[in-house]
Amino acid sequence: MSHQDLYKIQPSQIVLSRSAFKQNITFLKSRIDKSVKFSSVIKGNAYGHGVSSFIPMAEEFGIDHFSVFSAYEAEGVLKFRNNPDTRIMVMGMIRDDEIEWAVENDIEFYLFDMARLEAAINAGKKIGKPARIHLQIETGMNRTGFEEQLWQPVFDLVKKNREHLKLIGLCTHFAGAESVANYYRIQNQNKQFQKALKIAEMVFGERPLAHASSSAATLTYPEMHYDMVRIGIAQYGFWPSRETFMHQIKSSGIKRGKDPLKRVMTWKSEVMNTKWVNEGEFIGYGNVYMAGRNMQIATVPIGYSHGFGRNLTNTGYVLIKGERANVAGLVNMNMITVDITDIPNVGKGEEVVLIGHQMGNEITLASFSEMTNHLNYEILTRIPASIPRIVAN
Ligand SMILES: *Cc1c(COP(=O)(O)O)cnc(C)c1O
Repeated sequence: MSHQDLYKIQPSQIVLSRSAFKQNITFLKSRIDKSVKFSSVIKGNAYGHGVSSFIPMAEEFGIDHFSVFSAYEAEGVLKFRNNPDTRIMVMGMIRDDEIEWAVENDIEFYLFDMARLEAAINAGKKIGKPARIHLQIETGMNRTGFEEQLWQPVFDLVKKNREHLKLIGLCTHFAGAESVANYYRIQNQNKQFQKALKIAEMVFGERPLAHASSSAATLTYPEMHYDMVRIGIAQYGFWPSRETFMHQIKSSGIKRGKDPLKRVMTWKSEVMNTKWVNEGEFIGYGNVYMAGRNMQIATVPIGYSHGFGRNLTNTGYVLIKGERANVAGLVNMNMITVDITDIPNVGKGEEVVLIGHQMGNEITLASFSEMTNHLNYEILTRIPASIPRIVAN
């Protein structure tokens, strides 16, 4: 589909950069050992990047393991993967009655309670092939995971039902590896995890495969990579936090000012209309914005219904001809007005960049709100799935 066709479907589009993704994967793989598997975390519609476009692109660069949150998201991978051997792992929600479907389709899933363990055994029995399971170990996150007193009995039960259960790995999740404030909590979690691995080794005769680290832990704690890392935010070109970035700069000799991660996503729209407004007139609803001079404004067909939040009223900006155009007035449901007084020759159809690069300038997610480090995740995943995503070089 050409850009022109897509514009007929939606007033904005998201372009994924193959070269940026390639650079991120190359960088991230350089931080982990060759023997460590790379799982691409694509929950939340691939952090807003769009699974239907992202999955085939990731496969092009050798990704063959995807981590998702739910059975519903796993179904998306089944649909959009090109490589039938690409593996799928559900880290969260799967109903007991969805387990048979998972077993049938060779989908791996986390187990963290006895009921689901029983359901997995039964599904394995019924379908005649073993359920592919990851045992989630409670190490201190206190969300989901088998508590310490259950480790031995769970391992024994899994061993006893080897015919119906294929133990792929033991796993856990750290409670905030992107902040040094959580350093001791994570060290303690890792100690607990190792304790569980020892018990598992005694029961099974060998240490099962293990995985624990997200982007932040992968980049900050190399000793915690184990056999697989689960990389979400960093593969899309965003740092989990400024601290993680600073740590990388210090520990890997990256030149200051040189960011080894490149944003994969550019979100674009176009100018719908332009007009002049006299000094002293109000723009848009109410009296939120008064023209302080004779102003030229452009309307852009993007609003809070598309994930461009009302909190950007009078504070957000977009790029037009590589220049910053400030939002003037309220963000509407599907429209904004921006100040183009100082950007000459802007006409209807002119490209507008909401996130990403244009002519040497960049809008980061930070400009979408007062930046707190975690907001990246939230803003990305709130971008509606209905916006078309296309892959470009
Ligand atoms: C989301 C998630 C990840 C990936 O986290 P990032 O910070 O995006 O790298 C890894 N593991 C689990 C269990 C997750 O839920």
